[in-house]
Amino acid sequence: MFPSKVARAAGTGASVPVECCQVCGHAPLSSVLSLGYMPPVNQMVAVDELPRQQPWFPTNLLHCEKCELVQLGLAVDPVIIFPPEYPYTSGTTKLLRDNFADLYSEASRLLKLSPTDLVIDIGSNDGTLLSNFKNGGHRILGIEPTDVGKIAAARGIATVQRYFTPAAAAEIRREHGGARVVTAANCFAHIEDVHAIVEGILHLLSTDGVFISESHYLIGLMERLQYDTVYHEHLRYYSLTSLAHLLKMHGLEVFHAREIPTHGGSIRVYAARRGERPVSSDVTRMVAAEPRGDAMRARLNAFRRDVMLSKLRLLAMLRELKESGARICGISAPSRASTLVNYVGLDEAIIDYVCEIAGSLKIGKFMPGTAIPVVEESRLFEDQPDCAIVFSWHIAAELAPKLRAKGYRGKLISPLPVPCEI
Ligand SMILES: [Zn+2]
Repeated sequence: MFPSKVARAAGTGASVPVECCQVCGHAPLSSVLSLGYMPPVNQMVAVDELPRQQPWFPTNLLHCEKCELVQLGLAVDPVIIFPPEYPYTSGTTKLLRDNFADLYSEASRLLKLSPTDLVIDIGSNDGTLLSNFKNGGHRILGIEPTDVGKIAAARGIATVQRYFTPAAAAEIRREHGGARVVTAANCFAHIEDVHAIVEGILHLLSTDGVFISESHYLIGLMERLQYDTVYHEHLRYYSLTSLAHLLKMHGLEVFHAREIPTHGGSIRVYAARRGERPVSSDVTRMVAAEPRGDAMRARLNAFRRDVMLSKLRLLAMLRELKESGARICGISAPSRASTLVNYVGLDEAIIDYVCEIAGSLKIGKFMPGTAIPVVEESRLFEDQPDCAIVFSWHIAAELAPKLRAKGYRGKLISPLPVPCEI
């Protein structure tokens, strides 16, 4: 039933090309877009270290014409892309904190949770999502492979530090019982063997259990030209059509779905065992509105052209600034900034430094693939460079007023979807 010939990168210490669809096994896949070769976004070299050899991976998107899944053309061993020192914590962004509070209140309302209900979060990061359920009085458990899990544990969020596999799921089920809710926020696209994850989730879910996932939404990604969210952590880019197809292969039915603003456009999808819950009309409406077949092919071709044009437009804008002698820095160093910087070809001659808020684990390191240092944000206000590119442009509305209030007077530039002054 599930594709058996898919080669796995896990355990190779390297990478393997994706030669058939990760969900349905269809081959050949058609090419959507190539962003060239990219360094892993979370391996950042310290500023006081000499440059050392780093792996670079081809970064291209493929489309399955059978199940409509858009996927990365290369799977990289998780030990390379999720190193134990993984410097990403979800609690640092207000938008994410607000989103998880919203997930909690929506789930409580829709599912009528009781205090004894167990809620398990896969890829629980620093425990931000689960803290809402904990404060609501529910039993909670996080599963997180990286050291960020220790931050969660220190905050009182019970966390198992390991990779999520069916074997791990079976052990957790024996120890803790069935879960009323299993969540996977922004990691459901990350794990290589997606069928094993869904099988693991089925082990965890009680009979009336609900699986809630949040993933980047392919349709929104194309609309807002968020090619910078393409990097090796994100193996799959779901539409509701392709995600529902995957879950259906395992007997799960999507009964509620909606777009949410995180990461510049995501979908939150609720699924239960088939027939357990009535399917909302929103699901049917969203699926009907998504392109498929020839319409999807045309949409993907337009996306490829728009990505190329956005690169040329940003370079044209920066060339003009540099010719007038402007000093340019970057604001924030999310993973997606690595894709943008490397695809567009920005370097330390163009960008003096990138600012992160105090406490960020990225300060004192170079942007991946470059010698652009990441520095503490206070530098921006002392130094007043002429212009700052907001690399976390998807939250520019949240960031720009803060930077102005703290005293930055130069130009703020959003690099995407159309490079412009904010
Ligand atoms: Zn497929």
